[in-house]
Amino acid sequence: MKVQRSVFVSLCFIGTALLLYGQDADLYYQRPPDAATIYQQMEKLQTLGTVMYMAAHPDDENTRLISWFSRQRKVHTVYLSLTRGDGGQNLIGTEISELLGVLRTQELLAARRTDGGEQWFTRANDFGYSKNAEETLAIWNKEKVLADVVYAIRKFRPEIIINRFDANSSGETHGHHTASAMLSLEAYRLAGDPRAFPEQLTEVAPWQPKRVFFNTSWWFYGSKEAFDQADKSRMVHVDIGVYEPWSGYSNSEIASISRSQHRCRVSDLNWPVATVWNIWICWKEICPGMIMIRWMVLT
Ligand SMILES: [Zn+2]
Repeated sequence: MKVQRSVFVSLCFIGTALLLYGQDADLYYQRPPDAATIYQQMEKLQTLGTVMYMAAHPDDENTRLISWFSRQRKVHTVYLSLTRGDGGQNLIGTEISELLGVLRTQELLAARRTDGGEQWFTRANDFGYSKNAEETLAIWNKEKVLADVVYAIRKFRPEIIINRFDANSSGETHGHHTASAMLSLEAYRLAGDPRAFPEQLTEVAPWQPKRVFFNTSWWFYGSKEAFDQADKSRMVHVDIGVYEPWSGYSNSEIASISRSQHRCRVSDLNWPVATVWNIWICWKEICPGMIMIRWMVLT
C-alpha cells in the first residue's frame, strides 16, 4: 500500500511538472513582446546579413542554427522548406495528406515565431517516402521546383545558403532530402544568371549568394567516433550554446522550444539542452579550396 501511494505521488509530481512545462512553452511563444524583445528587434534592423537554410520538410531544419543566426547574430534568416510535410505521419490527430500539410505549415510558422526566423515554401509536394532523388525530381517536376528555389533566392537575397542534406547521397536516404540539396546547388549557380528563368525578372533581380554550405553532423559519418576522427581542417565551427540574458533562456532552450512546435511529430516535445555538433561544409565544386564553415560543440 505504501509502495502504491508513493507511485501515485510520483505520477502526480511528474504530471504536474509536465503541465507546468507545457504552459511555460506556450507562454513563451504566445506572449506579446516585452520591452527587451522590442529592443532586440530594433537592434536587428541595423543588421543587414541574410541567411537561407534549405531542406525538404517541416522538422528538417536545424532550429539551433536558425535561432543562433536570428536571435544572437541578428541576421535575417529564412527556412526554405521545399514541401509542407503532407506525406508525414500524424501522431496527435486524424489529418493526413493535404490537411496534414496545413497542420505542419502552422507548426513551422509557430516554430519561426519562437526562433525568430522566417518561413518560406515552394510548390513541391510531399508525396511520401521516395527511394532516391531522381524519382523525387521526376514526380515533383524538377524545372518548376527549381524555378521556385531560384525565385526564393532572388527574392530573399541570401548572402549564404546552408543545406541540411548532402547532395551526393541519392539512394542512401529519403529522396526528398537529397533532392533539396541538389536543387539548392543548382539554384545557387543559376540565381545570379539573368538568362535563367528570365520571366522572373519583372518581379525580382538576379542575385548571387556568396557561398553555399552543408550543415553536417556526426550522423552523416555513421557514428560520433567516426566524426571525432574526421578531418575538420576544412570546416569552421561556432559555439551556438550561448546564453541569452535578455530572455533568460539559452540558445539551445529556445531552439528546443521552437522544435517542440512540431506537435504532430510528438517525439520532439522535449527541451533537451544536450551536446550538439554542427558542421557546415562548403561545396567543393562551388568554392574550391574554401571549404567549410563550421562545426559546433554545444555544452
Ligand atoms: Zn525530412
